[in-house]
Amino acid sequence: MKEQLPLLVVATRNSHKTDEIRSMLEGVYIVRDLSTYPEAPLVEETGTTFSENAALKAVSASQCIPGIVLADDSGLEVDALGGRPGVWSSRFGGEEGNHSKNNERMILELKQAGISTPDQTKARFRCVMVLAQKGKILAEFSGVVEGHMILEKRGQEGFGYDPLFVPEGFDQTFAELPGSVKNSMSHRGRALQKAIDWLQAKERQI
Ligand code: IMP
Repeated sequence: MKEQLPLLVVATRNSHKTDEIRSMLEGVYIVRDLSTYPEAPLVEETGTTFSENAALKAVSASQCIPGIVLADDSGLEVDALGGRPGVWSSRFGGEEGNHSKNNERMILELKQAGISTPDQTKARFRCVMVLAQKGKILAEFSGVVEGHMILEKRGQEGFGYDPLFVPEGFDQTFAELPGSVKNSMSHRGRALQKAIDWLQAKERQI
């Protein structure tokens, strides 16, 4: 008989995040997100750090979803903009989750700052993942990918700031690279690998 894969619920309504996590966990976990649990409350991201926001989302969702819940909070930090947009990445352009407005504002701010070379536009994506169960935090993991910003969008893959972000060691943006390449080095991929190692070690102890 075929063995049933374990279930992992990701506390997000961002289908791009779910798709990335699902493709990284293919054959290892069945991945569901909050579209399967419409009863899960909408959480206001009132934290001032990725860690606080990831914890808010994980704790809230795990109060009404059985089993272990994983939440991801992530964003882009641009050195020349003093680390902005950071935790405000999804609303940088003024409208929650509007990627094209966010990218427009990013290009505008980089132009206003008069910077364009890779050296001047250093940036990183950061991701914090929190695992929670029954409203209690179990563990926290983080992942970072360094790179630089460009001032014109390139590529169709991925989401968010991917068309403007060139990871270190590459000439293409995240949106030009195949998803599997992005996932192998991304902030989310790195944090997820740590979370899965932790979960699998825990399962071995049971
Ligand atoms: P969150 O849903 O509050 O974690 O916001 C994450 C925001 O950061 C997204 O809406 C994007 O603007 C940005 N972001 C996070 N991860 C990525 C990524 O992998 N590629 C591009 N943008 C990202």
